[in-house]
Amino acid sequence: MTGVIFDVKRYAVHDGPGIRTTVFLKGCPLRCWWCHNPESLKKSVQDITRTVKLDGKTFDVKEKIGREVSVEELMTEVLRDSMFYEESGGGVTFSGGEPFMQPDFLAAATKACHDQGLHVAVDTSGFVAHEHLVKVIDNVDLFLYDIKHLNDEKHRNYTGVSNKQVLDNLAFILEKGKRVIIRYPVIPGLNDESSQLKALEMLLEVYRGRLNELHLLPYHNIARGKYERFDLPFKMDGTASLSKADLEPLKERFIKLGVEVKIGG
Ligand code: SF4
Repeated sequence: MTGVIFDVKRYAVHDGPGIRTTVFLKGCPLRCWWCHNPESLKKSVQDITRTVKLDGKTFDVKEKIGREVSVEELMTEVLRDSMFYEESGGGVTFSGGEPFMQPDFLAAATKACHDQGLHVAVDTSGFVAHEHLVKVIDNVDLFLYDIKHLNDEKHRNYTGVSNKQVLDNLAFILEKGKRVIIRYPVIPGLNDESSQLKALEMLLEVYRGRLNELHLLPYHNIARGKYERFDLPFKMDGTASLSKADLEPLKERFIKLGVEVKIGG
């Protein structure tokens, strides 16, 4: 069984508890306006040409984005840091892109980690076919679950897909008793209006006692250059990055609901 990944980040500390290895799978069915990983969108390995300037001269550098790996090769990589996982309560996080875009590889890789006794987290948009979720869920200890907009029409507009499946899958995962951390990217002008924040409060109320953790992710525009490199339109022109301090009032608002809130991943 092989899959296509575009990065493996060792010693990650923002993608779940403890020290982790985060594996980034290629492919995503969404097209979020603010996506900071445009290199993740296509499922296949890509060849791109990057222009670099050095000593006043311009060079074209060819670059390969992504590589095919087998589950066994991946396990060799992630098991190098077993000692750190054990010491810190860490483990392995599968991210993307949308990791469920490669459901069989994700199922095999999460099972291999689970069989090794590693803590497994999956960072997902929730836009996942139910049968794919069922294949993987028993191997997962923690879902880092994106909520991007609770108004379906706006969700479609900003991400290209409906949020119905996202919300149905959230209900299913919580029913199965899995730990879920909601990740909410705060995007100025797109999903920070008061009706939207109220809707997020209501979602947390509905799942009170089962959904206790919220991560607020401040928008940043550092990926702008990548859009040029991948010849993709950048829709966030004119939107300034947010700082952690900008999100403190929001944090206070959600803490009042009895939810544990963190700014950043
Ligand atoms: S779900 Fe994530 S990877 Fe996919 S387009 Fe949205 S932000 Fe990018």
